[in-house]
This record gives sequence, C-alpha cells and structure tokens, in this order.
Amino acid sequence: MSTHSPLWHPQTHMPTAGRDRLVIASGDGAWVTTEDGQRLLDLPAGLWHANIGHGRTRIADVAAAQIRTLETYHLFGAHANRPALDLAERLAGLLPIEDPRIFLTSGGSDSIDTACKLARRYWQVAGRPGKKVILSRDGAYHGLHGFGTSIAGLDFNRDGYGTESLVPETARVPRSDLAETAAVIERIGADAIAAIVAEPVIGTGGVYAPPDGYLAGLRELARQNDILFIADEVITGFGRTGEWFACQRWDIEPDMIVMAKGITSGYLPLGAVGIAPHVAEPFFTGAEAPIFRHGLTYSGHATACAVALENLNILDEEDLVARAAKLEPVLAQALAPLVDSPSVQEVRTAGLMAGVQLKPEVDAGKVVLGARENGVLTRLLAGNTLHICPPFVITAEEIEYAAGVLAGQLQAPA
Ligand code: PLP
Repeated sequence: MSTHSPLWHPQTHMPTAGRDRLVIASGDGAWVTTEDGQRLLDLPAGLWHANIGHGRTRIADVAAAQIRTLETYHLFGAHANRPALDLAERLAGLLPIEDPRIFLTSGGSDSIDTACKLARRYWQVAGRPGKKVILSRDGAYHGLHGFGTSIAGLDFNRDGYGTESLVPETARVPRSDLAETAAVIERIGADAIAAIVAEPVIGTGGVYAPPDGYLAGLRELARQNDILFIADEVITGFGRTGEWFACQRWDIEPDMIVMAKGITSGYLPLGAVGIAPHVAEPFFTGAEAPIFRHGLTYSGHATACAVALENLNILDEEDLVARAAKLEPVLAQALAPLVDSPSVQEVRTAGLMAGVQLKPEVDAGKVVLGARENGVLTRLLAGNTLHICPPFVITAEEIEYAAGVLAGQLQAPA
C-alpha cells in the first residue's frame, strides 16, 4: 500500500487520497484489478473513457509497432505523419458535420481551449472582433485548462483563482431553460458573443439528458444570433449515447465538435476538434489566409493516432455502438428501482450513462466504499451522485449485478 507518495492527484483532497489510495494494476473488459488483487466492475469506465473496455492487446500491438517505426512527428508547418492524416480522414467520415476539418490535441481540456480560441479567432478574422464571450451552461464541465476552468458551470472549479474567470469574457446560461438563455444573449448582446459550448448530456455535473427539444432549440438560438455552437462530446462521443455522436441522436449539426476519451478509449491521450467548413474556410483559402496560431507538440501524435484508428476498428468490428444502444434500456431498468430507496433522490440515465443522485444527508463516500467491498467500483459526481458509465462490453448480467450491489448499499439512509 503506497500511503506515502509524492504523487499529487488531480481534483483531489490529498489527505484523504494519501490514506485511501486505490491502486489499479490491470484491467480486462469491464473489470479492473487492484494491486491487492481485488477485481472490481468498473462502472465509471475509468473517467468515462474506456468505451471498448480494458486489456485490448490488439491496441498494445499497434502502439508497439508504431513506436518501433516512428514514435511521432509533429504537425507544425508542413510536417505530418501518416496516422494523423488517416485519423483525420476517418473522423471526417464519422462526424455529424459535413466535410469537417480536424484539429488534433492531447485531450479534452486541450480540445476545449482549441475550440474556444478558434471561435474567438474566427470572429476576429470575420471582421467582428467584438464577439468574444463564451457562453456555457450551469452544471457544465469542460476540463480544467484556462478556458475550461473559466467556462465551468460548476462554480467550485472556477473559484479561488483571484478572478471571476481566468479568461475574462465568459458567461453562464441556465442548464436547460431556453427562454432564460435567450434573455442572457439579449442582455450581453449577440455582437459580443463568440460561441456557446454545451455537453449534449451533462456528465460530471451529474448526468442530465437534454429535455425534449432543448438541444435543437439551443442550436437554433445560436444560429439566429450568429453564435458558434460548440458541442462538447468528450464523454458522449464514440458511442456513449447509442449513436457515434450525441449530436446525431438529438439531430443537430454543430459548428465545432470537441472530442477526447472514447477517441482512443483511453489507451493513449488524444483529443480532437471537428470544425465545420464555414468556420475553417478563411484559414484555408488564399495566399493571405491567416494562421491559427495554436497547437501542441503532440497535436496528432502518431502513436496516439494509430491507437485511435485501431480503437475505431474495434468499435466497428464488434458493433459496439449498437451494443451501447441495446444496453441503454437494460441499464435504465436495472437502476430504476433504486429510486425507491430512502437514500436516493433521483436516478437519471441517458444512453449508457447514469447518475444515481443520493439525498444530501446520505454519506455517499460510505456507499462507494460499501459497493467496492462487494466488487463494484463507482465514484461521485457533482451533487452526491454515483457515477455509472460502463465500458460498452459490459454484459446485461454484470449490469444487474452492479445494480443489486448498489441496491444493497442504499437500503437504509447511510
Ligand atoms: N469536456 C468534458 C465534457 C469532460 O467530461 C472532460 C473530462 O472529463 C473534459 C472536457 C476534459 O477532458 P480531459 O480531462 O481529457 O482534459
């Protein structure tokens, strides 16, 4: 047990982590095994990332082969590497954007910063430099880089840095109230707003599916006001809601789509932004085209891209997106009875993701530990909510088992 370690965990109360550290040593399918040898059903799929499940040796082989050939070569200037070009091509064919351009990054927070910077740059280039404000929804999580921290709809992620917002021009709109969102736009003035960023299903904020008509309404509001619509599909992308992208499920075409996590199912860090042609066009056309002065050493890391391509092959060959769709009602039905527990406030599901919100007085940490003792790994999202978002390879029986274990923990107020 490594209680004394110099390792500083992200987003973590370190005195507690130092005492209770859970070291995960290996994984297979929907399961992980701790250093002490305990097997746990991985309900959060790591951090929402393990769409194809753990322990895929095919991916290890692809990564090893790529590293033996060329670990990576950067994309700055006219340099490129073949896996990055192939991945861009493959993503372009998958996205709910016609003929998109693809900007590659190292993860979700990078992709959010990329999309927000590009939104602001786009309006500068379009001759409307006043359009700078980035709107986001209450309860939203968009990673923890500069823009992600600033547009967080979870106040605790924005607080304590000495300014209301690291990036000055940001504002929040309600989670799903279109009339109030229109009023905020009116108040700020559409001429000052560059973009709105929205998770189709709010994840870290507690798993909230969009109410009927909300996403289409928000998309339309953005269009009417010349505000770029940025869909943050870091969690929902690559099958989580039973379609390749949640924008397809809710039938909207964004101006930009932000991806990470499921793009490699976590086998290597990678992120991407898909960009509609009308946004990219000024940067691609003519000798005077401006440069988007943004990028990372590892934008389009060759090994990460090779891994992403193999991850997409596995999703395709095993029809895992359809499997996620088939498991959606299984998960919803298995969790529904939990609402009868005196400890539970609400059970919310959307695709193969769910949040079991416990009453505020319930000691949720105790519930998490109790589940763990019975072989089920979960964790807490905002609002005392148990995090459930299993790998797509989970079976119906494993879902039933997990629901049974949670029901056992939730029988009486903890
Ligand atoms: N956007 C959403 C919706 C996320 O859930 C996350 C991470 O959980 C991010 C962005 C940030 O991604 P990363 O942690 O890879 O930087």
